[in-house]
Amino acid sequence: MKVGKIAVIGSGVMGQGIAYVAAVGGFQVTLHDIKREAMDRALQSIQRDLEEGVRRGKLVQEEADAALRRIRLSESLTDAVKDADLVIEAVLELMDLKIDIFRQLDEICPSHTILATNTSTMSPTEIAAGTRRADRCVAMHFFNPVPKMKLVEIIRGMDTSDQTVEIVRAVAEQMGKETVEVNEFPGFVAGRISALVGNEAMYMLMEGVASAEDIDKAIKLGLGYPMGPFELADLVGLDTRLRNLEYLYKTLGEKYRPCPLLLKYVKAGRLGKKSGRGIFEYDKNGQKRPSRR
Ligand code: NAD
Repeated sequence: MKVGKIAVIGSGVMGQGIAYVAAVGGFQVTLHDIKREAMDRALQSIQRDLEEGVRRGKLVQEEADAALRRIRLSESLTDAVKDADLVIEAVLELMDLKIDIFRQLDEICPSHTILATNTSTMSPTEIAAGTRRADRCVAMHFFNPVPKMKLVEIIRGMDTSDQTVEIVRAVAEQMGKETVEVNEFPGFVAGRISALVGNEAMYMLMEGVASAEDIDKAIKLGLGYPMGPFELADLVGLDTRLRNLEYLYKTLGEKYRPCPLLLKYVKAGRLGKKSGRGIFEYDKNGQKRPSRR
């Protein structure tokens, strides 16, 4: 099967990035969210990313215009997915929600449609269990920011067919990504390491080991990481990071127990770049303000 149409469910941080790479990769894209504002924000952010892509010489103006024309928004889930060859789910990291959406997608989508989840940590087998097409369900784990990060982890559920894996691999490659195939295990590869490092950094901040700025600087310059753990946590979203850790704690044990300081930030509504304030503060263009901590 050749994939031509992709529906992206959830237009938050990841959904908008996935819609961007899908449209630039030549696919027809429908973006859906339960919140109209989220879809509008996503489209604006995609437009900004396309403009930046042109400024940086990554694509020419005609390609950016054509990519934008390939994206449409839909407030109706049925309308968004009814003729999709591939649906990529990027809603909140909550198992019950993902199971419910997969069940609905199974009812609505044509029989050939592949259902992929962008879960960071959870079992694609469990997410697919309520469908009658477990062979056509898989996880495609993109990384944030999607337009810049080269990797997609492909995770097979228990019944995922070889054909499904090959189709989503070809889709990821057409989006300009490299892939790795990972056996299903909580957190997969990159997310498991990243959650652990991010949580440890949070404990260090809570213990007063160093300032957030200096912990980031130490990890970047001392260990050669491209981003500091706090810069990354703000980009990921502290609420998303917390949900990931809660799942890993439940499935893999004590070492992933979320740091109490992370809970405090989330309770305060300091969710990171998307809310203008997380570990650091951001102006309306998403630029980091000097830290007061
Ligand atoms: P987000 O909070 O930015 O966006 C989630 C969106 O889903 C919101 O706009 C919300 O309105 C929408 N939504 C909620 N319920 C819905 C429903 N029933 N139907 C349609 N839309 C609905 O979250 P995010 O950071 O984009 O994360 C999405 C998924 O991607 C999660 O599973 C997360 O673990 C995973 N992920 C996140 C990152 C990251 O760095 N943020 C990286 C890789 C994977």
